[in-house]
Amino acid sequence: MELKDWMKIGDEAVDLMRRYLRIDTTNPPGNEMAGARFLAQVLDGDGIASETAESAPGRGNLVARLEGDRSLGGIVLHHHIDVVYADERYWTVDPFGGLLRDGYVYGRGALDMKSTGILQLVALLAIKRAKVPLKRDLIVLATADEEAGSRFGAQWVADERRGWLEGAEYALSELGLIAAGATPGRVPFASIVISEKTGLPLRLTARSDPGHGSMPWPDTAPHRLVRALGRLLAAERLPRILPEIQEYFARMASVLPAGEGAGYERLEGSLRDPAFRARFFADRHRAALVRTTFAVTMLKGSEKRNVIPPEAVADLDCRMLAGDDPEEIVAWVRQVIADPHVEVSLTSTPKVPNLSPPDTELYKSLADALRRRAPGVVVAPEIMTRFTDNWVFRRCGLHAYGFGPFVLDEGEWGRIHGNDERISVETLTAGVRCSTEMLLDMAAA
Ligand SMILES: [Zn+2]
Repeated sequence: MELKDWMKIGDEAVDLMRRYLRIDTTNPPGNEMAGARFLAQVLDGDGIASETAESAPGRGNLVARLEGDRSLGGIVLHHHIDVVYADERYWTVDPFGGLLRDGYVYGRGALDMKSTGILQLVALLAIKRAKVPLKRDLIVLATADEEAGSRFGAQWVADERRGWLEGAEYALSELGLIAAGATPGRVPFASIVISEKTGLPLRLTARSDPGHGSMPWPDTAPHRLVRALGRLLAAERLPRILPEIQEYFARMASVLPAGEGAGYERLEGSLRDPAFRARFFADRHRAALVRTTFAVTMLKGSEKRNVIPPEAVADLDCRMLAGDDPEEIVAWVRQVIADPHVEVSLTSTPKVPNLSPPDTELYKSLADALRRRAPGVVVAPEIMTRFTDNWVFRRCGLHAYGFGPFVLDEGEWGRIHGNDERISVETLTAGVRCSTEMLLDMAAA
């Protein structure tokens, strides 16, 4: 196979994709070992040795390395083997059937993220077969458990198999995509993920004397808690515009219909205008990109309607942007709550957010690859509002990005974690070419 046989390489990606989707790696329980064995077998077919390791029974992780001369740092191509559950009642096809229908491959994991894993794998095979000399190692890494917090996957690799990352400078993984223009003629908009917001697990605990529900008083534990939450939700924490976020919105403005992106070039100033601010914050995704968020998600009081409990508890999903300081946030929450009878605590150690700069050699190469994939596309750095494994690899000292050479409209990406998840043959075929060319650009000697 030669590197110009893109149709053939694409066909192979489609075939492997269908086989990979037939392996049920729903987490829990994960059973990623079955997926790791499949990947090992494919690699072995091309003479690429791999190492598989279980972090717990059935929880498989795999690494394989295509060696370069190491004059430059390696690139870790990682994906998670596990998928979220699929409720078959709402699917029109078997979520683990690997069905090919009307130009689409269907299955749980088609987008999130067995497809990215297959693109990385097939790119590696194609480069190996073409005997391209490399200046960087290319490291394929498949991990367990991303959908449930990565304890048995990326985190385990970072703690127990750090050698798998040896000599690496970069990590590349999921998300980031090319959003097709919603209307004909509209410019596509692509993002490369450079950071993720991370969670600060806040708990508010109000305490008071218990009593009978028939004779309440103002300062029962639940009443205190409700007032504290009210003060917290009403408090305005100032937005903070990271330079990368400013760049994201400035680029987005250039693809929005005339007028819609007015004010996006200078967000900090624009957000001081109450009318702009109200408009901007009405979009919950945009709002989350410029501030620390507080979502009250779990509430607990009495077990019985007529019992005033001695304790009332609220758990909050607080999400931090890169540069946020957990201690400062906790102190701020205490101050706006202003009630010494409401304790503010953390239920686990927070994951301090991290960020990879959008000016590295890899970032530039990714942007070039996206521009080749979708001519005219506007590329911007993106901060995800939710967690991915890239956070773990940044902690290991790598620059880590989310890269997806997938041109998708909203209807397609809305199937992630949803029903009838699928990927088109065209997207896979073009995607494998895009990924391979990008890796050659970065790593060919
Ligand atoms: Zn994922």
